[in-house]
Amino acid sequence: MLGAMHFLVWLRDRKAWPSLVFAVVVLGVVGHALVELGFMTARDPEVYGRYMRWSHLFSFLIIAGAVIFMRLYLKAGRWWLAGAIIGLRFVAMLMNFWVFDTNINYIEIRSLEFVTLLGQEVAIAGDADINRWMWMAQATFPLWFLFTVDATITSWRRAEQVEHRGLLVGCGMALVILLGTSQAVLALNGWIKMPMAPSIAFGLMTLAMGYELSRDVLRASQLATSLWASEQRLNLAAAAGSVVLWEWRAGQDSIWASSSGHDFFDLPLDQRLSFEHFKKTLHPEDRDRVISVINQTVAGGGSFSMEYRRLFSDGKVRWLAGSGSAERDPSTGATLLRGVSVDITESYATKESLREQREQLSHALRLATMSQMAASLAHELNQPLAAIVNNANAARRMMAKGSASPEDLVDIFADIAADGQRAGGVIRSIRAMARPEEQERMEISFDNVIADILPLITAEARERRVEVVVEIADTLPRFWGNPVQIQQILLNLTINAMDALDALVATERKVEIRAEAEGVSAIVVSVRDFGSGLPPAGADRIFEPFFTTKANGLGMGLAIVRSLVEAHGGSIGAADADGGGARFQMSLPVTA
Ligand code: ADP
Repeated sequence: MLGAMHFLVWLRDRKAWPSLVFAVVVLGVVGHALVELGFMTARDPEVYGRYMRWSHLFSFLIIAGAVIFMRLYLKAGRWWLAGAIIGLRFVAMLMNFWVFDTNINYIEIRSLEFVTLLGQEVAIAGDADINRWMWMAQATFPLWFLFTVDATITSWRRAEQVEHRGLLVGCGMALVILLGTSQAVLALNGWIKMPMAPSIAFGLMTLAMGYELSRDVLRASQLATSLWASEQRLNLAAAAGSVVLWEWRAGQDSIWASSSGHDFFDLPLDQRLSFEHFKKTLHPEDRDRVISVINQTVAGGGSFSMEYRRLFSDGKVRWLAGSGSAERDPSTGATLLRGVSVDITESYATKESLREQREQLSHALRLATMSQMAASLAHELNQPLAAIVNNANAARRMMAKGSASPEDLVDIFADIAADGQRAGGVIRSIRAMARPEEQERMEISFDNVIADILPLITAEARERRVEVVVEIADTLPRFWGNPVQIQQILLNLTINAMDALDALVATERKVEIRAEAEGVSAIVVSVRDFGSGLPPAGADRIFEPFFTTKANGLGMGLAIVRSLVEAHGGSIGAADADGGGARFQMSLPVTA
């Protein structure tokens, strides 16, 4: 039954070779036992000899099987010894069947003798000639014993074999080999008056082998139980963190996911999670991006992390954050994508409302700045408008007198157009600053950003009699950002710089705005003045909300500036500059 059981194990798992070999050994033992029964109950020398001949088929199965089992199961034992044992035994078996008249043990059995065994009369060879080729079969016994002892010692010495896995099988086998084979040798040579019956010892050997194998089966089932338990724990942890773990074999449709996977993928429980379904539920605006990120990861390996939207069957849009990495499945070579996804709809909503608040605040601050600049802006508009009026009057007078040459008129109209454009520029800048924020990010060039805000800066500089120097490197990379926010940052820093110049000790009434590339990945913008330098409170305090040293200051400007810079993924700092004054420097990343 044990043998049949392990044969079934092998049928279901074709890699369980020790189980098959074990079943063969059991078959050998059972066969040998039946043959032993046959010659013990024989009453005719010829029948006796025939049974004994068949015993060699089964002992071959037992010995070859046990040797192979040892090699497969303990992965120990010398190959050459194993080969010698199996080879010798095989040749002995062939000779037993085809060379000798009776068998390899006896040339001729003329009569039987009867002895009493466990109260019953059993036959043994009486008057018989021993075959001198019997050594061929019996020589395998000491070799087999040696092989087994050697394999046991090797497996025991191996560091990882702490469980004495091999010890029981090895020692058990060595012992029964010794017992079984010596009993057989003694009986066959007629040195003891007993029938040879090694199947008893070999039966014990199969018990030891079976015990070990069954322990493996038991271990596998325990492993399955503990796997199940750890999967439960994993599901619990995943559910508690609203996280879904998933695994997808590239090229296949089905997806494995932890227990809340069906909710997550918005599927009824009886339906299979599939990649097609996942693709279908992606938000149309995010679909191409998500699929291309996945394809890239599958093709190029590595890992990914992204946020995207999905449309659920209840019509709601949910935000998800997913990250994962590609691995190569060692057994099939296929690419395996494994990762986690989290529903971030709520935190996304918080993030959105924070962003809205920041935008409202920065808008309010822009309006406040504009109202502070009202005087200089009015002046900045008045000048070109007054010049336009003057020029128009002059042209009208000249034409009335008839003294207007076409050349004079062309000059006058050119002036009028230039002034009109200057006024228009100021108005455009004011409108951009005063409008509520458009949250769009776009690819922008720093040249354009500064050109649009320059009219306002110049207006303020003229009013305060400050020289503004702008130096922009020629090869600035374009970058992703919100142009109005970048302009607000520049305006705030410049007006602060001019405020610093208004303080008592200014070495030069000059503000320098510089922009240059920092490698290919960032641009660095600095605003430097020659004023009194940072207040004693230090560079960190000035970025705190409501920190101000000005009589009518709000203390919000730099706080907003920092949050806008950080919203662009950049950083900003301030320090006293060599030669007096302060320098504010920010670094903006170029990537999206
Ligand atoms: P506010 O301008 O309303 O005071 P800010 O947040 O813009 O608010 O600035 C905070 C403080 O940082 C200012 O009050 C000033 O003390 C200091 N500060 C800002 N810019 C400069 C500068 N260029 N030079 C010296 N101090 C500055």
